[in-house]
Amino acid sequence: MKAVAFSEQGEVNVLQYQDVPKPTLEHDEVLVKVKVCAVNYLDIHARRDRPEIKKKLEVTGTPHILGSDIAGEIAAITEDHPQLNVGDRVLLAPCIPCGVCSDCINGYENLCDTQQLLGFQTDGGYAEFVKAPVKNAIQIADELPFVEAAALPIAYLTAWHMLITRAQLQAGEDILILGAGGSVGSAGLQIAKLVGARIFATASTDEKLARAKHYGADVTINYSEVDFSEVILEETNGRGVDVVLEHVGTATWNKSISSLAKNGRLVSCGVTTGNIGEINIRKMYQKQLTIMGSALGTATELRTLVRLAEQRRLIPIIDRTLPLQNAAEAHQLLESRKNFGKVCLIP
Ligand SMILES: [Zn+2]
Repeated sequence: MKAVAFSEQGEVNVLQYQDVPKPTLEHDEVLVKVKVCAVNYLDIHARRDRPEIKKKLEVTGTPHILGSDIAGEIAAITEDHPQLNVGDRVLLAPCIPCGVCSDCINGYENLCDTQQLLGFQTDGGYAEFVKAPVKNAIQIADELPFVEAAALPIAYLTAWHMLITRAQLQAGEDILILGAGGSVGSAGLQIAKLVGARIFATASTDEKLARAKHYGADVTINYSEVDFSEVILEETNGRGVDVVLEHVGTATWNKSISSLAKNGRLVSCGVTTGNIGEINIRKMYQKQLTIMGSALGTATELRTLVRLAEQRRLIPIIDRTLPLQNAAEAHQLLESRKNFGKVCLIP
């Protein structure tokens, strides 16, 4: 089969469109003919230098295939599974948890220490076919386009877990969404709109801010021109926002905390500019702030997102689709932050 894969980590030129063996199924696995695979920033980290990928390349001696956001049709299935048949339209849940540790048993499979991610510790969807455990296959309605289904797993699941499960964003609350043009930011924007929150969104260009407004942002802030925390305090009469969706890290940490109202919650899922941030502990307890982490999400949450997308109450934002051969171009788009919403590859 055709796939985009790489044998050593590096810049985009390591991505090679090539022939690789079609996956062979083992116990309780499903083979999916990939219709769409969405690209994530994690793919870029994996391609560049993530140690898990380096180890996989060394151990297997075969090229690595990226791609965690996969929608397609079942091409083969190992055993008799009454609910799934060849030809069914499915989305693949990206996490492969162990299923037996205390976190998995308690319903926190996103915290499983030995979980694998499709396209990361396993070969993924930058290919004509991908295999996954049967239980990762989620059936999707005919009305849900493959491209929208493929947009959901990493970005929308991450944003949903952050805002709904962790921060418990409520209707009428104020939320600040950083980097509203990126995958998690734009997903968070739509989810916050669905909840009924008032949305403050930052982005680096006026074009992205206009799109953020189109998708429901109430107040937009160009962070390359002004200090967003000052604008937040001005716009909220000095109160601040109830929730901050953080995924930037060191560069925005202090301003994000300064933007919080009393009883405010900061929820973080990423550190694209660095891991380390300081906090004024006195201000934190006097304002009763909550700082919370958030790690991807669960298959149950992903099923909720699929239902919302099938009901057309949540229509994922697709920046563009490209042929699989153009995976390098897709990576460059994300690296230069030129996209608004998901970039998707079509084998
Ligand atoms: Zn586990």
